[in-house]
Amino acid sequence: MYETQYHRATSVEGAARLMGEAEDGKFLAGGMTLIPTMKQRLASPSDLVDLRRIEALKGVKISGRTVRIGAVTSHYDVSINEELAKLCPAIVSLAGHIGDPQVRNMGTIGGSIANNDPAADYPSALLALEATIITNRRSIPASEYFVGLFETALGSDEIVTAVEFTAPDKAAYKKFPNPASLYAMAGVFVAKSGDKVRVAVTGAGENGVFRLEDAETALATNFSPSALDGLAVDPDGLLSDMHASAEYRANLVKVMAKRAVAEIANRPM
Ligand SMILES: Cc1cc2nc3c(=O)[nH]c(=O)nc-3n(C[C@H](O)[C@H](O)[C@H](O)COP(=O)(O)OP(=O)(O)OC[C@H]3O[C@@H](n4cnc5c(N)ncnc54)[C@H](O)[C@@H]3O)c2cc1C
Repeated sequence: MYETQYHRATSVEGAARLMGEAEDGKFLAGGMTLIPTMKQRLASPSDLVDLRRIEALKGVKISGRTVRIGAVTSHYDVSINEELAKLCPAIVSLAGHIGDPQVRNMGTIGGSIANNDPAADYPSALLALEATIITNRRSIPASEYFVGLFETALGSDEIVTAVEFTAPDKAAYKKFPNPASLYAMAGVFVAKSGDKVRVAVTGAGENGVFRLEDAETALATNFSPSALDGLAVDPDGLLSDMHASAEYRANLVKVMAKRAVAEIANRPM
C-alpha cells in the first residue's frame, strides 16, 4: 500500500503551485491511462493534482480559421462540436473513433498528448496540422513536442493548457484499429493547405509519430491516391510486436495514406 493525496485544482496557477509542493506528484486528467498505471503499481505518486475542474482548460474555441482546444476537453466533446465539424471534420471524426464511449467521455486531448502513446490518434493530427502545444510556460511546435515513445518536450511539472492550429483547406484521418484496444496499428493524417501537404503517421513508428515526407512530395504535385502507388514505406524503424510485423505495418501505412487522400479527393466542396 502507499498513500496518495488527491487535490482538485481550480486554476492553472493553483495546479502548478500544488505540484510544486508535492513530493512526487502527477497531474490527473480523465485518469484513463494514469489510474490503470497506478493500479498496476507502475506509478505511485505521492499527490494527484486533478486538472479537470479548471474552467480555463475546457472547450473548443474557434476564431476565423484558428482552432484552440483546451487541454481537459474530452474526446467526446471534440467529436460533437458542430462548428469544428464544419471547419475541420477530420479532427472531429478522429476524436469520435478514439477507443469506446467510456474512454471518449473521460479521456482528454491534454492527457493523450502528455502521455504520447505511440499508437494514440491525436499526435498524428497535431503533427500534420503543424499545431502548437501551449503550456503554462511556453508554446511548443508539434514538430518539437513529440520526442519519442511516451516522451515529450514537457517538463515534469509543466501543464499542457491547450492546442492551437489553423484549419487546413482539407484533411482526413484513416486508421487501422487494433480490434481489441481500438488504438491505431497504423493511422495516417493528411492535411492540405494550398500546395502544401502534410502526412503524419501514428501507431507504426518505433519512436512514435512521424512525418512521411516522400508521400508529401508525391502529393504536392498530384493530389490523388495514385500518386502514392510507387511509395515504398521502409519497415526499418517501424514497430514489430504481437499484433503486426514491421512489414505489415509498412503496408498498412501506405493503404491508410491512400484511403485518407481518396476521402479528401472525393469529398464534395
Ligand atoms: C481501453 C482504452 C482504449 C483507448 N483507445 C484509444 C484510441 O483508440 N486512440 C487513442 O488515441 N487513445 C486511446 N486511449 C487513450 C485515451 O484516449 C486517453 O487519451 C489517454 O488514456 C489519456 O487519458 P486521460 O486524458 O484520462 O489522461 P490521464 O490518464 O489522466 O493522464 C495521462 C498522463 O498525462 C498527464 N497529463 C494529463 N493531462 C495533462 C496536462 N494537461 N498537462 C500535463 N500532463 C498531463 C498525467 O499526469 C499522466 O501522466 C485508450 C485508452 C483506454 C483505456
